[in-house]
Amino acid sequence: MQHPPLKITFLGTGTSTGIPMIGCHCAVCTSTDGRDKRLRTSILVESATTTIVVDTTPDFRYQMLRAKVEKLDAVLFTHPHKDHIAGLDDVRAFNFFQHRAMPIYANDLTTEGLLREFGYAFAQKRYPGVPNLDLKPITLEPFAIGDIFITPILVWHLKMPVFGFRFGPFTYITDANRIDDSELDKIRGSKTVVLNALRKEDHISHFTLGEAIKTVQGLAAPTAYFTHISHQLGLHHVTEKELPAGMHLAYDGLVVHVA
Ligand SMILES: [Zn+2]
Ligand SMILES: [Zn+2]
Repeated sequence: MQHPPLKITFLGTGTSTGIPMIGCHCAVCTSTDGRDKRLRTSILVESATTTIVVDTTPDFRYQMLRAKVEKLDAVLFTHPHKDHIAGLDDVRAFNFFQHRAMPIYANDLTTEGLLREFGYAFAQKRYPGVPNLDLKPITLEPFAIGDIFITPILVWHLKMPVFGFRFGPFTYITDANRIDDSELDKIRGSKTVVLNALRKEDHISHFTLGEAIKTVQGLAAPTAYFTHISHQLGLHHVTEKELPAGMHLAYDGLVVHVA
C-alpha cells in the first residue's frame, strides 16, 4: 500500500493531570523549560490533503489554537478515559466553518463512553449549536481516512482494551501497560514508534520508562518517542539524556516527519 508522507505534531504529551499539575510546586511543575509544560496527550496526523487528530483532550481547544489547526477532517479515539475525550464539544468550531458533521472514529467501548458523556450531541432533538458528530464505528480492521491508511492495534490499559494506530511507517500508542505478541507483530517494521511512559516507578495501567524502553528494543524500532508523561518522570533535559540512542521524550509542539 502506498503511504503519503506524514507530518506528526505532538499537541500534548502530559498524563491526565497535565504538567504543571494544579497546586504542585515540584521542580518539574515549576520548571521554566517549555518542554516541561505538557498538555494532555494527543497528536495531529497530516498528509498533504488530510488532517486527523487522535483524541480530544480537555485541552483540545487550546491545542487547536496553539498549533493553528484550521481544517480538521476527522477525530480518531484511542479509549474513553476523560483525558482523551473531554474536549470533544469544541469540534463545534470546525462544524461552523466546514459546514458538515465531524467524522469521529471509535471502537465499541469508546462509542459507549461518548454516548454517555456527550449524550446531548447524539440526542434525537438537539439543542441548536451542539456539536455535529458523525460516529464511525471501527474494529481492528484497517481503514482509510482520505489518503491516510490506518491499522488499529489492540493494547491493554490494565483491563481496558485501548486502540493504538499504525499509519504506514509510524505507530502511535498511548495508555498501555501490556501488548500481546500478535499485536506487537503489527507494529514491527515501523520506523517511528510512540509509546506511553508515565514515570520510572511501577504503575498499574501505564508502561514505566523502563518497560517502554524494553518494548521499543523488542520491536527494534530505529526511532521512538515517549509520551503521556507524569511530573514524576523528572525534568525533560535530565531524563532525555538517560535514554538509549534513537529514543526521546516527546514534548508539546514537537513535529516529526515520516515517509
Ligand atoms: Zn490517558
Ligand atoms: Zn487512560
